[in-house]
Amino acid sequence: MKNEQTLPDKQQKKLGISRRGFLKTITGTAAGIGMSQVFNPALVSALEKALEHHPVLWIQGQGCTGCSVSLLNSVDPSIADVLLKVISLQFHPTIMASEGKTALENLYKIAEEYKGKFSLAVEGAIPMAAGGKYCIVGELDHKEITMADMVKDLGNKAGSVLAVGTCAAYGGIPAAEGNVTGATGVMKFFKYYGIKTPVVNIPGCPPHPDWIVGSIAHLLTKGLPELDSDGRPTIFFGENIHDNCPHLDEYDAGEMSEKLSDAKGCRMDLGCKGPDTYADCYKRKWNSGMNWCVDNAVCIGCVEPGFPDGSSPFYEPA
Ligand code: SF4
Ligand code: SF4
Repeated sequence: MKNEQTLPDKQQKKLGISRRGFLKTITGTAAGIGMSQVFNPALVSALEKALEHHPVLWIQGQGCTGCSVSLLNSVDPSIADVLLKVISLQFHPTIMASEGKTALENLYKIAEEYKGKFSLAVEGAIPMAAGGKYCIVGELDHKEITMADMVKDLGNKAGSVLAVGTCAAYGGIPAAEGNVTGATGVMKFFKYYGIKTPVVNIPGCPPHPDWIVGSIAHLLTKGLPELDSDGRPTIFFGENIHDNCPHLDEYDAGEMSEKLSDAKGCRMDLGCKGPDTYADCYKRKWNSGMNWCVDNAVCIGCVEPGFPDGSSPFYEPA
C-alpha cells in the first residue's frame, strides 16, 4: 500500500474521505445490506492493496448515462469521490475532470501501462451497423474513434470487462425491436471478434449501485465471481424475485392488486414480471434501502436478456 501521505491520499483528505475511511464505510454498509460475501473484514486489506494496481477504466457507448447516475447514488461518502480518488477509476466520461485529446491519450496510456490488469467497465450498447459510426466516442490524430473501435482495442488489453447495465450486457433499449444501429452487448460483440477477455454482466436498467461496486470489489479481491448462464454474478442475480416476493402468499391465495396504489395484493395482473426475473431487489431494495419497484409499481424484468421487448407492454400481464 502507498504511504498515506502520497498525493492521491492528500487529495482524498481534501475531499473529506480517506482510503481507509471508505473501506470502513463499505465494509459496514455491506454487512447491513447482505453483501458480506463480498465485503468481509478479511478482504479489506486485500482490496486496499489490489486497488493500487488495478485501475478501472469506464467507457460509455449507446446509453442514457443512467447506470452512472445510479452508481453516483451509492452510499455516503459520495461515490464520485470514492471512484475518482479511491477505486482508481481513472477514466469516466461523466465524472472525470479532463476531456478531449488529453483524456483519450490518458485512457490509452493507462490501458497500455496496465495491460492485462485493468478492468474495463462498459456502459451502453455497442452499435455495429454502418461501421460503428452511430456512436463516435472521440477523435485522435483527426481520426474518429467509434465505440466499437474502443471496445475492441481496450477489451483486448483488459484483464476483465464489466458490462454495466442491460444495454452493455445484452443490448437493452438500443437493441429493442427495429435496432437500426445494430446495437449489441459486450459478450456478443466479443464473440463476433473472437475476444477472449472474461466478461461480467451487471444488468439492470439501471443496475443497483451495490451490484456495480460489489462486482468491482469482487474482481479486485477475489477474482471473477461465479456467474449464471447469462453471465451475471450469482451473488446478486441468483434468486428469483417472485419466489422471494413479500406478496407471494397473496399470489398463492389468489389475492391480486387491482391498481398500483393498492398496498396489498400480488401485482401479476398489473404486469409484474417477477416470476421471470432473477435479482435480489426484494431484499436489497433501492434508494438506500427505501423501497423497490414492486412496492409502488411492478417488476418489469429490467435485468433479463430479453428486456425491454420481452417485458413489453410493461403494465400488462405476461
Ligand atoms: S407482485 Fe410480482 S413478484 Fe410479487 S408475487 Fe406477485 S407476480 Fe410475484
Ligand atoms: S424489481 Fe425488477 S424492474 Fe425493478 S430493478 Fe429489480 S429487476 Fe429491475
